[in-house]
Amino acid sequence: MALRTITHITCPCGHEGSIVESTYDDSRSHWYLATLRGLSHNGRYDGLDALFSETTPSCPTCGRSLGPEHTTRHEPHNLTSATVS
Ligand SMILES: [Zn+2]
Repeated sequence: MALRTITHITCPCGHEGSIVESTYDDSRSHWYLATLRGLSHNGRYDGLDALFSETTPSCPTCGRSLGPEHTTRHEPHNLTSATVS
């Protein structure tokens, strides 16, 4: 099953971006990928949140390092229509 989760982030300056997590899992393979949309990779997050410590997002507009406190909402998406049995 492929699953995509979008974590929306809003910088205090008003810039909006997101972290897109893609997970694929079946009997043969498993992979996970987190990519930034509309954000830079050069943040300085150094906390316990694995997603933010891995991607270290920062605002491309004002340069601020972004963390979980800037998250506005999570949005899970099923990429397949397969039902869970
Ligand atoms: Zn900003």
